Amino acid sequence: MPEGDTIYRSARTLKAALAGRIITGFRTVLPHLARVNVDTPLSGRTVDDVVSRGKHILMFFSGDLILRTHMRMHGAWHLYRPGERWKQPGRDMRIVIGTDAFEAVAFRVPVAEFRTAATLERDDVIQSLGPDLLDDNPDLGEAVARLRALGAVPLGDALLNQRAVAGVGNVFKSEICFAARVSPFGAVSSLDEATVRNVLEIARQQLRANVPDGRTAALAMWTGRRRTTGRVHPAQALWVYGRAGAPCRRCTTPIEMVKQGPDARVTYYCPNCQR
Ligand SMILES: [Zn+2]
Repeated sequence: MPEGDTIYRSARTLKAALAGRIITGFRTVLPHLARVNVDTPLSGRTVDDVVSRGKHILMFFSGDLILRTHMRMHGAWHLYRPGERWKQPGRDMRIVIGTDAFEAVAFRVPVAEFRTAATLERDDVIQSLGPDLLDDNPDLGEAVARLRALGAVPLGDALLNQRAVAGVGNVFKSEICFAARVSPFGAVSSLDEATVRNVLEIARQQLRANVPDGRTAALAMWTGRRRTTGRVHPAQALWVYGRAGAPCRRCTTPIEMVKQGPDARVTYYCPNCQR
C-alpha cells in the first residue's frame, strides 16, 4: 500500500501539471463516474487544485466537482504528454483526464467517487481521518490521544490506523518504531504520552524527509528511493524494513520479521533495541 509520502508527492506532481488547465477530455471505465460526466461534463472545467488527505487524492474542478481517489494496493496516477505511450496496459486504465499539456491516467484505482463541497463535508471516510503527518502543522496532541484511545491494539497496528493518524504505511511503521526504540508489539495504551508523541515526531520527520521540497517537486515524478537513515546508498537507506536476518545497524543483532495484525502486514524490528 502506498505510504502517505507517495500520495503526497503524487498530489503535488498532479497539481503542478494540471492546476489552472482546462480539461479537454475525460474518459472512464467506471460507470458511476461516466454517469456524472454525462450529466455534468468534465470537459471545459478547470482543474483548480489537487491535494492529498491521508492516502486519498482529491482533485478539485471548477463548478463544484471533486474527484476523490484512493490507491489501495495497486492503484496509481500517471502523467503523460498527449500521445505519449502509457507505462501500464490500457486494460488497467480507469480514468483519463486530458488537458492540452498533460493527460493524467489513473490505473487500477479501486476507489473513485465524485463529490461536491457539500458531500465531501459529509464524507465520513475523509472527515474521520486522524491528523495528517504531512500537513504543515498537524495536531500531534490529537493524534496522541486518538492512538492511545485504541487501547490494547499493538503500536505497529495502531500506526496504520488512518483514523488515528494519517500518512503512515507499512514501511514507515517499522522504521518509525525502530528509530523511536519502541516495540511494535506493545499495547499502545501501555505507552505514556511522551513516548507516543516522540513516535509521532519521528514519523513526521521521516515522512517529510521523503517529500522533495518545492524546487524539485516540479513536474518530474519523484524517483528517489525512500530513506530513513539519512544515507543515500540504497543498501543503507532503511533501518530495518526488508532486512530480516541482516545485522541491526545499531547493535548488530539480526533483524527479525513477523506478520502482525488482522491483515498480517510484515513488521521488521530489532529484538534487542526494541524490547
Ligand atoms: Zn539493535
